[in-house]
Amino acid sequence: MSEDLFLKIINREIPADIVYETDSVLGFRDINPQAPLHVLIIPKTHIRTINDIRADHTSLVGELLIAAAAIAREHGYADDGYRVVMNCNEAAGQTVFHIHLHLLAGRNLNWPPG
Ligand code: 5GP
Repeated sequence: MSEDLFLKIINREIPADIVYETDSVLGFRDINPQAPLHVLIIPKTHIRTINDIRADHTSLVGELLIAAAAIAREHGYADDGYRVVMNCNEAAGQTVFHIHLHLLAGRNLNWPPG
C-alpha cells in the first residue's frame, strides 16, 4: 500500500469521511471499519512508524490522544468505553506507513486482541 496514502487524504487528493480536524491532526472513518465507530487519527506531519517519533513530536503525538477522546465523547462513547490502537511495522499489522491511531467503539472489544 502506498506510503503516501494518508498524505493524499490530508491534501484532499482522495476522499475520506473526515470527522475531526485541527491545524495539526486529521480524523477520518476507516474504509474497512472493525467496529461501529472506527476512526483513524493521523498527524498532518509525515511520521513513518512509531519508531520514527522524536522528542519534538511529543506535543503532536499527544494531540492524537486528545483527538481520540474528543471524537469518542462527541459520538457518545466516552463513558461506555473505547479502544485506541497503534500498529508498528508488519508483525503488528501496519499497512499504511504514516502513523495513525485507530479509535474503535460501539461494540464489546475483547482482550487480548488478535
Ligand atoms: P494499519 O493496518 O496500518 O494499522 O491501518 C491502516 C488502516 O487504513 C486500515 O484499517 C485500513 O482499513 C485503512 N485504510 C486503508 N486505505 C484506506 C483509505 O483509502 N481510506 C480510509 N479511510 N482508510 C483506509
